[in-house]
Amino acid sequence: MRLVLLGPPGAGKGTQAKVLSHNLNLVHLSTGDMFREAVKKNDKLGLMLAEYMRKGQLVPDEMVNQIVLNRLEDKSIQNSFILDGYPRTKPQAITLGEFLKSHNMPLELVIYMETSEEIIIKRLTGRRVCKDCAAIFHINNMPPKKNGICDNCNGNLILRDDDKKETVLKRIEIYKQQTAELIEYYKRQGLLHTVPGDFQAKELYNILCDLFKKQGLL
Ligand code: AMP
Repeated sequence: MRLVLLGPPGAGKGTQAKVLSHNLNLVHLSTGDMFREAVKKNDKLGLMLAEYMRKGQLVPDEMVNQIVLNRLEDKSIQNSFILDGYPRTKPQAITLGEFLKSHNMPLELVIYMETSEEIIIKRLTGRRVCKDCAAIFHINNMPPKKNGICDNCNGNLILRDDDKKETVLKRIEIYKQQTAELIEYYKRQGLLHTVPGDFQAKELYNILCDLFKKQGLL
């Protein structure tokens, strides 16, 4: 299955992608996760990426495209992947489309996770991420057993710089300006399916599985 998860920050793309990739044996490609890994290296590229992310700005298209297409060339991908957080601009979508076409593996589905602004803000500002294993928690919806400590690895849970309220509002604005037009773009290609991003993760997972079955992908 070749999927894109599209939606504003905080729609739950990462949460769904993690469960789907695990249960359906798909490779999960998250540009946000890739960049956060690169930042940990603290080299020139890492420092540059950290600056864009801290400000809630998008990383330039050429950089993102190069990193993602490199990964997609990898044989371990085996034609089955979920793209989470990519593409985020029209030039990225065009580059991706051309690449996949030339490799004979066009997208099968683009899932648009339609989510209200109120929910986005609550989710992101309450999100806590494990510094060590990147597991995701939420202070209200999915609290860890011990306050501030990861259930999986005992690592410290942190509020990402880009989940601070001021940056979240900026990210929503950038989403509206640069990413939202992809909804129409993929609708025109007959690939878009809209699902309610406001729903709880479990309910949404069931909706997605039903959709895949209907599409003959499961
Ligand atoms: P995410 O975890 O998907 O919300 O991504 C975190 C940050 O990484 C974003 O706020 C951007 O700064 C950067 N980023 C992730 N994906 C992309 C992309 N496709 N294009 C540009 N910047 C991106």
